[in-house]
Amino acid sequence: MSMDQDRIDARRHAARLRARLVNAAPVAGTALVAIAATAFAGEAAPLVAPLGGAAVIAAALFWPQPSRSRTEIPAGVIDTGTGGSAPDAPTLAELADAVPEPIVLIDGAGIVVQVNRAASEAFGALPPGLMLRIRFRAPEMQGMIDALISRGEAPAIDYAERVPFERAYRVSAMRVGAGRRLFALVFRDQSEARRIDRMRADFIANASHELRTPLASISGFIETLRGPAKNDATARESFLGIMQRQTERMARLIDDLLSLSRLEMRTYVRPTTPVDLVAIVSQVAEALGQMARDAEIVFEISLPPGPVEVPGNRDELIQIFQNLIENAIKYGGEGGRVEISMEDRRASSENEVAVTIRDHGPGIAEEHIPRITERFYRVDVETSRATKGTGLGLAIVKHIVTRHDARLTIKSELGQGAAFTVHMPGTVH
Ligand code: ADP
Repeated sequence: MSMDQDRIDARRHAARLRARLVNAAPVAGTALVAIAATAFAGEAAPLVAPLGGAAVIAAALFWPQPSRSRTEIPAGVIDTGTGGSAPDAPTLAELADAVPEPIVLIDGAGIVVQVNRAASEAFGALPPGLMLRIRFRAPEMQGMIDALISRGEAPAIDYAERVPFERAYRVSAMRVGAGRRLFALVFRDQSEARRIDRMRADFIANASHELRTPLASISGFIETLRGPAKNDATARESFLGIMQRQTERMARLIDDLLSLSRLEMRTYVRPTTPVDLVAIVSQVAEALGQMARDAEIVFEISLPPGPVEVPGNRDELIQIFQNLIENAIKYGGEGGRVEISMEDRRASSENEVAVTIRDHGPGIAEEHIPRITERFYRVDVETSRATKGTGLGLAIVKHIVTRHDARLTIKSELGQGAAFTVHMPGTVH
């Protein structure tokens, strides 16, 4: 190829690039405004982000394309061509479908013009020409549609779908393109955020209740000691003993709550230091030897002869096995023995090390098994309290296990004891 031909090709290429940039300017401009708005929106960012996304798509959908005159587009149909860019560029409809939030475009009479895929998946078919108010009968949606038709604007609303399952949305509406009577309704799914809010509120209520009970007992005893039992030396001795146990219970609860909150802050940082699991499990078993003897339990320990190294945090792994072995002693005590075993399966396709703590106590009924790792969930509150339980032990175990990219499996049947297995990944992926 000659030099001249090269130059002509280069010039053609530059001209094509310039034309493409000019075509893309409105969309790019809207995108930049949206990004800037998100960056500066602070607390309002969750709302601005989907609106910004909708604005970009709306700009892409509705900006007049130089390659086609507007008269070529039949009335009421939106141009979803490629916008004059490269042949492999996505169509604008594909772009809209790539947005995870449902977006519904309606005209000034409240009639559906176009929807993206997320909207069809969430709400079923919404064909162009449908009156939106027929599909969304909830008063808040009707109010929003009315406001858009009459005033051309409407504040964001909360809207819930009840079937096939409950979903909570924050719906925002914005006008599309200056001078047009077209509006984009963006549905932001808030269900997960609501669920987390509810969990947090439940957790605070549970934690407060757990702390309030011993506190109320201590306060009652103080009152008795200052009043009716003022000069009763025997009662004083007994009450002080109870008060001490209650303060210890509160201290244990606060320690567990702090452990949980520390773990929550580090959930996504996976420990990578190699630690010897055999040494950790043996050390915990030894430390709990006295507790086992007091409960007349024998440990049957079966560990590999040499070290078995896995990536992990030593203190946290100690906490896992301490909680599991303590539980086996506390709840499985009547079985008389607790088996502590380790299987090194690093050479197999599973590439894991499995540590099992098995007791031969009363076991756990099937319906409780999926829930016992929830915070404050106890099969029997009184037994747990009597054995100094806080209801947080297995929640802590679950957190540590997740942080290590490990798994916890629980096998149990009523009357058949319980086996808790921690599957530690053999290497860092
Ligand atoms: P707790 O502080 O109450 O021991 P955990 O989170 O450690 O809290 O355990 C939650 C509940 O799971 C316990 O209250 C108990 O009902 C049940 N549980 C745990 N381990 C065993 C086990 N080995 N055998 C029977 N039940 C168990």
